[in-house]
Amino acid sequence: MRLGVVGAVVAALLLAGCGDDNKPKPFGQNMPSAGAVPSGSVAPGNNTQAAPAPGDVQAAAARWGIKPFAAPPKPPAQKPVKANLSAPVVVRQVPTDQKIVFVTLDDGAEKDPKFLDMLKDLGVPVTMFLNDTYIKQNPDYFKKLQQLGNTIQNHTVDHPNLKTLSAEAQKREICGDSDAIAAAYGKRPVLFRPPFGNYNDATLKAAGECGMGAIILWRESMQINDMQYDEGLKKLHPGDIILAHFRGPSELKGTTMTQMMANLFKKIQEQGFTIARLDDYV
Ligand SMILES: [Zn+2]
Repeated sequence: MRLGVVGAVVAALLLAGCGDDNKPKPFGQNMPSAGAVPSGSVAPGNNTQAAPAPGDVQAAAARWGIKPFAAPPKPPAQKPVKANLSAPVVVRQVPTDQKIVFVTLDDGAEKDPKFLDMLKDLGVPVTMFLNDTYIKQNPDYFKKLQQLGNTIQNHTVDHPNLKTLSAEAQKREICGDSDAIAAAYGKRPVLFRPPFGNYNDATLKAAGECGMGAIILWRESMQINDMQYDEGLKKLHPGDIILAHFRGPSELKGTTMTQMMANLFKKIQEQGFTIARLDDYV
């Protein structure tokens, strides 16, 4: 068992070497370190991806070249952002003074099975804003992510620039995506992200009519290796919402989804933040 974990760690480190010059950080103290196992004892073909036992949390994170995330603080009894159907609130950052950020993943084009393993290993929550166009290609992939405790929210059916559409067409795009998500995953979205972050008054009205209580924008967006910060900001702030995408090597210049996400997770950890669940705050 232990040998298998080390094998996986070595494999992950080799993979992470592509386009990423960040060396993994030393392990923390409260976990049994994979370093306790003699080096070189790599067991090929023993790379199982079963959920890690609690003591293996450190090794599970190390598979992806990162440290485990600290558990987020207990969410507030009252959500700091109140959803409002008659006038959906627009949110880029959740008011909090705790060192938490929220990770959101858009569209759903890339469906890398390794990303399922990554989230299983790390146990951090993400919020997905998915287009039915991409869901339809493989609904089961996102079902598995939902079963890990991640939330699926609305991003329109076809990813149009809503500002170019009539009020009626906007409503079709938004309600249609909610209908598809409810049918596939048994839960109706309550949060909406307009494609490209573009919206107008008709969008807000349509979103409310389709059951959306909040428009979720972002403060930072993840590129391949680096984070793009809001103008004037050079670092994460408590409550920031971070945008990333389901993207693969063809859109990431050869980098895989899990390498890009490992880069993102490192940026969050380097700045002393952990990841909380958006639904607990909005
Ligand atoms: Zn999008």
